[in-house]
Amino acid sequence: MAKPLLEFTDRGIYCAQGKFYIDPWKPVDDAVITHAHADHAYVGHKNYLAHHLSKEVLYYRLGEINLRTIEYGETVTKNGVQISMYPAGHVIGSAQIRVEYKGVVWVVSGDYKTDDDGISTPFEPVKCHHFISECTFGMPVYSWKPQSEIFTDVNNWWRGNVENGVATVIVGYSLGKAQRILQNLDLDIGKVYTHGVIENTNEALRRNGVMLNPTERITSESSKEEVRKGIIIAPPSSVGTPWMRKFGPYSFGYCSGWMAIRGAKRRRAADRGFIMSDHADWNGLVSAIDATGCECVYLTHGYTASFTRYLNEIGFNAREVHTLYGGEEEDSTITEGEEVKEENELSKEEKVSPIGGDLEGAAP
Ligand SMILES: [Zn+2]
Ligand SMILES: [Zn+2]
Repeated sequence: MAKPLLEFTDRGIYCAQGKFYIDPWKPVDDAVITHAHADHAYVGHKNYLAHHLSKEVLYYRLGEINLRTIEYGETVTKNGVQISMYPAGHVIGSAQIRVEYKGVVWVVSGDYKTDDDGISTPFEPVKCHHFISECTFGMPVYSWKPQSEIFTDVNNWWRGNVENGVATVIVGYSLGKAQRILQNLDLDIGKVYTHGVIENTNEALRRNGVMLNPTERITSESSKEEVRKGIIIAPPSSVGTPWMRKFGPYSFGYCSGWMAIRGAKRRRAADRGFIMSDHADWNGLVSAIDATGCECVYLTHGYTASFTRYLNEIGFNAREVHTLYGGEEEDSTITEGEEVKEENELSKEEKVSPIGGDLEGAAP
């Protein structure tokens, strides 16, 4: 039997014919990167290929890398293998990687969501024979509300805090959630302030030509009274730190898909939990996989075992594969009492290379 076009190795997803890897976690010569989150974009590769909108964030996070960027729909050929990128809808610049050789097509989803968040290029289904998918939220209990409803809740909560003279801190990841929050806040309520880690990412995206709403970086000079009338966007790493406590009294809201399950809110001591995710929910996953028309589907991370079983039951040819992806909202093993593990997992996508200087807590 001929070798499959893509294989799962201990360095990452490998294309032997084209001699490149997709989202490898060990150093390789040629890496194709789905998006700039830390569990997909590692430092140490010789050459990088990514989407144009990931460019400045990758430089900021990984330092001086040898990077080539392309647009969605553009094709690069390596040893006869055609590589192209399609929107994954996960974060700004996230791409599904389509690989074709001698009429056989594989698509690597990376992380994705099917709902349009108004800021990431919306997810596009791509026809293929083999689809490599995540399934972070691959359980029927995960079903996202329309984004407009979520942000009505967020804005009402913020308005109430301003009326009560309480500061508002909203927590989300620095790449993805932070910009999604920023673009959906009602700016008639007040000004948007940012933690340094978030503002650094915003600046990288603005250098990349992304139009974001105005923000003000919080510094030691920021007036507590003024900040209290606005809203602060902060990364998960700032929760419970002296940095956050100095804005007290404050109400703290946490945005995560995990807020859908009992206990998550309590564990993070959030005053408000907003169920918001940059990953597809159950219906999103099933419909995305179905839309590819694929013969085989490979599940990389999330509820892989149960989701694979379900897909096989409804007639797909599915199997679990081992990868090192997962981070941010991607811990599939949360159970009551696993605080430590959960926090470790949650910090993974937020972590960036020291070369980028984006160390958590380094900014005031
Ligand atoms: Zn991601
Ligand atoms: Zn990921």
